[in-house]
Amino acid sequence: MLIKLLLVIGVIAAVYFFFIKKSTPLTKERHDKKRKENDDETMVECTVCSTFITTNEAIIVDKKFYCSTECRDKA
Ligand SMILES: [Zn+2]
Repeated sequence: MLIKLLLVIGVIAAVYFFFIKKSTPLTKERHDKKRKENDDETMVECTVCSTFITTNEAIIVDKKFYCSTECRDKA
């Protein structure tokens, strides 16, 4: 009887951990996506004229940010 009870607990635990394991990558993926979206909206300063632009608008050369090709050429 006790062995049967332990077996039932074991099965419940296995199912529980299976679902926890299964749901974890989804949660992680969602977090990564959110972080990526936030990165795109990060404001950075133009190295030349100090204008603030978002990272997805900025021109990035040698890890420096430029608001336009003109500023990039000036640098
Ligand atoms: Zn600029």
